Amino acid sequence: MLVQDRRTFLRLAGVAAVGAGLPGYAAMEGTGAPKTDGAAKEPEAEIRVRVEASPDPLVTRTFAILKDRIQQRCSARVVEAATGAHLILATDSGLPHDAFRMEEVDGAVRIAGGSPRGLLYGVGKFLRTSRYDGAFQASAWRGTSVPQGSLRGMYFASHFHNWYHSAPEPEISRYMEDLALWGVNAVMVIFPMINLQDWNDPQAEPAMAMVRQYAKTARGLGLQFATGINNTMFIGAPKGIRATPLPDPTHRRGNSGHPICPSHPEGHTYLMDNARQLFEKLSDAGLDILVHWPYDEGGCACEKCQPWGSNGYLKLSRDMTELGRKYFPNLKSVLSTWMFDTPPEGEWQGLTDALARENGWVDYILADSHEDFPRYPIDSGVPGKLPLLNFPEISMWGNWPWGGVGAHPLPSRFQRLWDQVKQAVQGGFPYSEGIYEDMNKAVVVQFYWDRDRTARATLEEYSAYEYGSGVAGDVMAIVETLENSAGCAQRKEPVDTEAVKRACELAEKVNARLPDWARQNWRWEILRLRTVLDRERFAGDGLETPAAEAAMTRLIEIYHCQMETDDPYHHRVRPPLKRALSRHGEY
Ligand SMILES: [Zn+2]
Repeated sequence: MLVQDRRTFLRLAGVAAVGAGLPGYAAMEGTGAPKTDGAAKEPEAEIRVRVEASPDPLVTRTFAILKDRIQQRCSARVVEAATGAHLILATDSGLPHDAFRMEEVDGAVRIAGGSPRGLLYGVGKFLRTSRYDGAFQASAWRGTSVPQGSLRGMYFASHFHNWYHSAPEPEISRYMEDLALWGVNAVMVIFPMINLQDWNDPQAEPAMAMVRQYAKTARGLGLQFATGINNTMFIGAPKGIRATPLPDPTHRRGNSGHPICPSHPEGHTYLMDNARQLFEKLSDAGLDILVHWPYDEGGCACEKCQPWGSNGYLKLSRDMTELGRKYFPNLKSVLSTWMFDTPPEGEWQGLTDALARENGWVDYILADSHEDFPRYPIDSGVPGKLPLLNFPEISMWGNWPWGGVGAHPLPSRFQRLWDQVKQAVQGGFPYSEGIYEDMNKAVVVQFYWDRDRTARATLEEYSAYEYGSGVAGDVMAIVETLENSAGCAQRKEPVDTEAVKRACELAEKVNARLPDWARQNWRWEILRLRTVLDRERFAGDGLETPAAEAAMTRLIEIYHCQMETDDPYHHRVRPPLKRALSRHGEY
């Protein structure tokens, strides 16, 4: 009877229904709020979880995440219990490392991961496909899920006092848990040498502390930690070893910072010495992936280095990888080709030729551009026949200041870009400036997990999990309008003001229907505030109205922005509230 009751529950009802007739359970008839019956308060529903997986800090953490996310959304209590389990957490070495399986076993839902990390991903799927309307209703999803992409990264650009730079550690840690639940398995943060005089700069120590904290947080969650390196180092680099500026006829490669020529013997020594110090400072926190970057902040056009991408850059990246492996023997090396052949100078072909001769040190090739994906690796194959990563820019397109008017979902854009590369790409590192494009992160990471999963399917799952049941259709309509407005802004075309007004009205109607936990969630706030700010800027009197100022003030709180700042770039990531002050800002 017990098994049958549980099965019935698992398919049709909520945990509360399981509780009926079981010791310690209350029959709550589908309401999440503790009811009062006369003077007596009914006990809360209990979700009993048996942890079968071998003891492991990540399994313990995964249970804690599961408990926290369920209890945030409904009144059910999650307890660890050896008997009478509704939910079993297990590992199964027969599954691929990051894969998971969800099945029914003796009336319980059993989630098994190929590893503790695979279990974490399985718990993510379970949480997103369970329902929390009143009582908890366990996920009906069943099956085995194996990720297709092997490197599902996220690059946090932690600068300008953006959210990654300013948020308190517990918030960052929680956010990384949320991203891990979606399938992320690597996080990249860079030590900002470009902003520092040298290792003795007063800002060097706090910057390194932040990088190390990210490394520890990521690795505590079972995620790989990545950092980037190139030939642009400190501001105070000696003048005699500086690089020859790059030709940049399309103005897209960048010539920022103070790049060093690695073909100059003293330049090479300087670069390697700083790389060594970086590795030493990360040695206890750990480093799993080293990402080499050719342009934007880097490059050298001297006779000995050019063509940079297949010559000076390649040699330096190899030397730095070999040095890094002395500190971190399993270090993986990602070679970015960003802005290769802009203008055409044979870098892609040169890289193919070089890796055909010698390929003992590169693990992944990364490719992308400002707009459409580079054709070379699609048409001619990936140099070294290596797995290919992308680097989608998910933060800035159609959006200034970045995140300044709230949520910035672009599912159609990323679906289009993904469709160009989905057969070739094995993962990547989306470029992120903050939490306002959280939806884009979910979309892209799920592409990496399952190349045929649509952006829409991901956002419907996102909506049900973050906002509750029954609002996904309205949320998708709002997202479509926001994306259309961003596209018009990017192309400098007129925005559909009636659609903008309707989206704002729809958001208010949804807001009234949401459960408290969803209404108070920042993920809903930033979406709703975006509809208000789009209405004010496109269909109203601009961003100085009381409604607009109230919305931006709230966004500033959510992002931990500074109302007064000495950071000359903070305005790039701060909502454009008129009274917010930049003492040294560019405008
Ligand atoms: Zn050079």
